[in-house]
Amino acid sequence: MTGSNLELIEVYSAGIKAWFPDEELGWVSASVISKETNSKSVKILFQDDINAEKQHVFEAALADIESNKVGLPPLRNPPKMENTDDLTNLSYLNEPSVLNTIKTRYEEKNIYTYSGIVLIAANPFARVQIYEPEIIQKYSGSRRGELEPHLFAIAEDAYRCMIRDNKNQTIIVSGESGAGKTVSAKYIMRYFATADDKEASGKQAKGETMTEVEEQILATNPIMEAFGNAKTTRNDNSSRFGKYIEIQFDKQRNIVGAKNKTYLLERSRLIFQPETERNYHIFYQLCAGASEAERQELALKEWSEFHYLNQSGTGVIPSVDDAKDFQETRTALNTIGIHKKTQSDIFRLLAALLHLGDIDIGGRNDATLADDEPSLLKATQLLGLDALNFKKWIVRKQIVTRSEKIVTNLSPTQAQVVRDSVAKYIYAHLFDWLVANINDSLSCPNAEVVHSFIGVLDIYGFEHFKKNSFEQFCINYANEKLQQQFNQHVFKLEQEEYIKEEIDWKFISFSDNQKCIEMIEAKMGILSLLDEESRLPSGSDQGFCNKLYQNFNSTYQDYFKKPRFSNNAFVVAHYAHDVQYEAEGFMDKNKDTVPEELLNLLQGSQNSFLCDMIQPPPSTPIVEQSPKKTMNQAKKPTLGSIFKLSLINLMDTIGETNVHYIRCIKPNEAKDAWVFQSSIVLSQLRACGVLETIRISCAGYPTRWTFKDFSERYHALIDFAHWDPTAKPEARAVCSQILDKNINDTDKYQVGLTKIFFRAGQLAYMEKLRSDKM
Ligand code: ADP
Ligand code: MG
Repeated sequence: MTGSNLELIEVYSAGIKAWFPDEELGWVSASVISKETNSKSVKILFQDDINAEKQHVFEAALADIESNKVGLPPLRNPPKMENTDDLTNLSYLNEPSVLNTIKTRYEEKNIYTYSGIVLIAANPFARVQIYEPEIIQKYSGSRRGELEPHLFAIAEDAYRCMIRDNKNQTIIVSGESGAGKTVSAKYIMRYFATADDKEASGKQAKGETMTEVEEQILATNPIMEAFGNAKTTRNDNSSRFGKYIEIQFDKQRNIVGAKNKTYLLERSRLIFQPETERNYHIFYQLCAGASEAERQELALKEWSEFHYLNQSGTGVIPSVDDAKDFQETRTALNTIGIHKKTQSDIFRLLAALLHLGDIDIGGRNDATLADDEPSLLKATQLLGLDALNFKKWIVRKQIVTRSEKIVTNLSPTQAQVVRDSVAKYIYAHLFDWLVANINDSLSCPNAEVVHSFIGVLDIYGFEHFKKNSFEQFCINYANEKLQQQFNQHVFKLEQEEYIKEEIDWKFISFSDNQKCIEMIEAKMGILSLLDEESRLPSGSDQGFCNKLYQNFNSTYQDYFKKPRFSNNAFVVAHYAHDVQYEAEGFMDKNKDTVPEELLNLLQGSQNSFLCDMIQPPPSTPIVEQSPKKTMNQAKKPTLGSIFKLSLINLMDTIGETNVHYIRCIKPNEAKDAWVFQSSIVLSQLRACGVLETIRISCAGYPTRWTFKDFSERYHALIDFAHWDPTAKPEARAVCSQILDKNINDTDKYQVGLTKIFFRAGQLAYMEKLRSDKM
C-alpha cells in the first residue's frame, strides 16, 4: 500500500489513540488493540480509554478510504501536547483534539488558548486573578508568544501594530450571550487606559495613573450598561445592543479621546420582558435610588407597581444593588460631563415612559381612555404634551386619502400597540442621544490631533433559538458579514505565506458565504423585499413570506428553504447553522412606526429636552430623510435598512484596519464556575468559525517544518550510506532525500523556500515510519 490516504492506515498500530463520537461527552478516546487488513477492506478494533467494558470498531472498504468517502477515526495527540497554548501546534488538527485541548487547559484554569491568530476565551464564571495592574505591566511591551495567551497580549499586539505600521486596528470580540464579550472589551479598554503612559513617561509605573480622558472612557461603560443592558435568562447583565468603540491616540500614542457607535438596540424589551428577565437596568435603578424629592416630582413607585417593569415577575437580581448602581450611573454621568439639569431631564423622560406604560386603556370593540386617567395625566405632564390631544391619537387613527381625512376608532389592543410604540420611540431616541452626547464629550475636540485608533467591537454572536424573529435575523446577518471578513482575512494570510514561500496555492478552497449575504442584502434580497412589503398599504407578514418563497426557492436554493410544516416561516442556511425564522412580526418590527399625528405632537412638546432629543443625531445613517421637520412615514427608513447601512459602514471601517480576533466561549448554560460541557463548546466553536478555519487550513497544507527541524527529526529515514561522508549535507538536500524515499504521493507535500508544507495527517505517517526505524 503506497500513496494516498491508504498510507495513513499504517499509523493505526497497537496503542495508538483515536477519537470516537459520544452523545454525552462529545468525543471519547480509544486505543488500537488490533487491525486486520486484506486486499479489499480494513477492520480496526479499539479499547475505550475510560470505559473498560467498551470497545469501538472501525471497518471500511479500502476504496472508500482512498476516495475519502470514509474518513479514518481522528487521531489523538500525545499527552504532553494536549495542553499546548496554540491549537495550530497540534500534530493532529481535528475537531475532538481541538476541543480536548481547550478542555484540558480550562481544567488547569487556563481560560485562554490561541488558535493561530485567534484568541479563544472560555468564560470561567469565577474571579481569576489575571487582570491586575502588575499583569498589565508584564504584557505591555512584550511580544505575543512570550507570555501565556491573554487578551492583554492581543491588546498589546494591536497597540504594537498600530505603532509599527501606522495603521488603525480593530479587535473583534464575539461569542454568544453570556460568553464574556463585554467583560473582555472592558479589560481591553482598561489595558489601554492604564498601559499607555509606559513609553511616554517611563518613570511612572503603569496602571497607576490615568488621565481625565481615560477616566471618562471607562465611565462610558456604566452609563451604556445602565441604559442598554438588562437581565436575560442567559446573562444577568446582557448587552442589548452592539458596540464599536474607537480609542483614539495622538502622535505620541497618548489616548486623546474615544468614539462609540452602537447597533440595533433591542426595542421590544422596553414594553415587555419574558419570564425571569428584566427591562433595562436604569429603570430599576431609578425606582430604587431616586431621592425623596425626585420620587415626589416624578411620582415614582416600586418597580413592582409599573406595568413595564413587573410583567416578568423579576425585578431584583441577587448580588445587584440597584440603588447603589444608580449612584454609580450618576457619578459616571458627571464624569463625562453631563449636566445635573440634563440628568434630571433624562430621569424625567424615564419616569414618563413608566407612567405611559401604566395608561389604562379599556373598552370592548372601541378603545376607551378617560380624560382624567392618572397615568395619562402624569405621563403627558412629564412629556410636556397636551393630555387630551395625546389621548385622542392613542385611541383613534386618521387615514388621509386624496379627497378627505377619515378618523376611525382603534380596538383596545391596537391602542395599546400605539401607546407602546410611543414609548419605544422615545427610549430608542434617548439611547441614541446619550451615545451622541458621550461622543461629543469624549471625542478629541481637535480632530487633527487624532493620529490613529484601536477599535473594539463587542457584538452579539450568532443566535439560534427555538423561535427566531427579526432580531435574530439581523444579528445573524451581521455575523455572516463578520464571518466573511474573517474567512477572507485567514485566507489572505495563508495565501501570503504560500506566495512568500513560492509554493503553488491555487487549490485551496474555502467556503464563501457571499451568496448568503447577497440573498439578504442585495437589491432583490430579503431585506428589500421586506421593505417593499412594509410600504404596501395592505402589506402583511404573510405577503412578505410568500414573496420570499416565490423569489428564492430557485435562485438561492442552497441558502433558502421553505419549511415543510409551515407557510409562515423561512429557513436560511447560515454558515454556522440552518435557522428557521417566523415571519410573524417582521413587518411591524421593521417599520417601527409611530402614527404621524403623535409624532407631530411629540415634536411640538413643551419639554425642550424631548424636542431636542428626537431630532435624529447627525451620525445616524439615515437615507431619504425628508427635509421637513415632520418625517414622511412612507419614506422613513426602516430598521432593516438602517441596520444594513450601519453594518456596511462598519465593515468598511473594519476593512481599513488591521483586525485581531477574540472568540468568547460559554462553557456551560448554568453559568457555573469551571464547568465545561463539551457539546455546548463544540457548537460554539463551530458558530464562531474556529472549526471552519481549521478546516480551511486542513484543506491546504496545515503542517509546516523548517528544513533544519525536519532533517534533524527524520534523517534516520534515509540510508546514510548513500552520502559522501566528506561532504556536509545541506538540510534542504537531506529533506529532499527523506521525502523522495518515503512519500510516494507528491500531492502530500510542497517544498517552499525555507519550509516544507504537509497535508493534514502526513506528520502522523512520518512519525510512524520514524518509530518503526528506531
Ligand atoms: P456577553 O457580553 O458575552 O453577553 P458578559 O461579558 O456580560 O457576556 O459576561 C457574562 C458574565 O460572565 C459576567 O457577568 C461575569 O460574571 C462572567 N465573566 C465573563 N468574563 C469573565 C472573566 N474574564 N472572568 C470572570 N468572569 C467572567
Ligand atoms: Mg455583552
